[in-house]
Amino acid sequence: MPSIAFIGLGNMGGPMAKNLLNAGWSVSAFDLSEAALADVVAAGATAATSAVNAASGADVVFSMLPAGKHVKSVMMGDEGVFQTLPAGTLVLDASTIDAATARELHEAARGASLAFMDTPVSGGVAAAQAGTLAFMCGGTGEAFLRAKDVLKAMGNEEKIFHAGPDGAGQVAKAANNMLLAIHMIGTCEALAIGAANGLDPAVQSEIMKASSGNNWSLQVYNPWPGVMEGAPAGNDYKPGFMVDLMAKDLGLANELAEQSDIDADFGKRAGDVYRSLQEQGLGRDDFSIVMKSLAKSLG
Ligand code: NAD
Repeated sequence: MPSIAFIGLGNMGGPMAKNLLNAGWSVSAFDLSEAALADVVAAGATAATSAVNAASGADVVFSMLPAGKHVKSVMMGDEGVFQTLPAGTLVLDASTIDAATARELHEAARGASLAFMDTPVSGGVAAAQAGTLAFMCGGTGEAFLRAKDVLKAMGNEEKIFHAGPDGAGQVAKAANNMLLAIHMIGTCEALAIGAANGLDPAVQSEIMKASSGNNWSLQVYNPWPGVMEGAPAGNDYKPGFMVDLMAKDLGLANELAEQSDIDADFGKRAGDVYRSLQEQGLGRDDFSIVMKSLAKSLG
């Protein structure tokens, strides 16, 4: 049975680790939260006492942590996992982190003769549970072939992409989520204008889906309450995908735009919109809640 060390068993990591167990992997798990660890151990994983302990003897090491500083502290430095692993071990980090830190991790892994890939995901908790995540991977073609074998236990094989070299997965993820924020806000603005002028949002949505304004927010995530069954809008904007996470991803995208000398004005404005929702105490609501602040009739 192939073995994997899984570090970070939160909302995403927990169900992903369970899918690896279901696919026949032996999972050695670690999380700072005892409750998160116990949940995955109950599903068949072995509890480790530290990240280094989890990684000891594993064929593959996998992390799903909040941000770059957590991944760096677990993997790099004198106390880090990298320096304990045998040469050639595959290490995958699926956390959403800044591309610069991802590149530092690649560099450090190379120094320790390890095969590293940044493999952030798209799809959220529901896709993590269903094993239908999309993965965008940065690193060598050789590491990608090895990574795909692991990732297909947690995602759709046709949605596992080799985005490009070191850090490219994180760049693809940040750019995608910036575009998602922009078209969600645009969709909300269009629906608010329609509703204020007597249009039925359901009818207007059908018109836009059949026209050039068609986009993912309209297709599967309609932000007007009741237009689409199962969308967070119909469940009082319970996530779904939290405003806090979108604000984090826009921070990463805007930082990247700045470092690349790109004036991503709409990305910056989207960042302002989501920061303002956080300031209003809506950080834990779904990111489509921007609809409520635009449409007076929803107030
Ligand atoms: P989470 O906060 O639920 O889980 C993170 C886990 O990491 C927690 O259980 C925490 O205890 C653990 N942790 C933190 N530091 C640790 C350390 N040093 N050692 C071991 N464990 C440690 O977060 P999540 O929602 O699972 O997200 C994980 C990553 O996936 C983030 O980077 C997030 O941006 C990204 N992501 C989340 C979603 C989503 O919808 N939740 C979607 C796509 C991507």
